[in-house]
Amino acid sequence: MTNKETVNDVYGWYDNAEQPKNQPSYDPGFYVPCLYCGEPLTDDNVRTHSFSAMTDGSKSYYYRTHRTCDEQATEKEKTSIWHAVMQRIEKDGN
Ligand SMILES: [Zn+2]
Repeated sequence: MTNKETVNDVYGWYDNAEQPKNQPSYDPGFYVPCLYCGEPLTDDNVRTHSFSAMTDGSKSYYYRTHRTCDEQATEKEKTSIWHAVMQRIEKDGN
């Protein structure tokens, strides 16, 4: 059963560092809304942001935004996006 409200279309993750880059444990899909502007990502305008979980160094997360949105964003905006993703991860318990 899929509840649209709870579908994670924000971030993906790898359970361990040895996992091939093209085989994440979960991938939110490519055509998800950009976290800056809410418009769908496109093939020629995408940037992937990766970071490690603070609780478990072997697990890593990533999310995608438009490359152009990220280039124009201030440090404050970038930090707030990252915080939103972290909050989502904590809420989902992943
Ligand atoms: Zn965007």
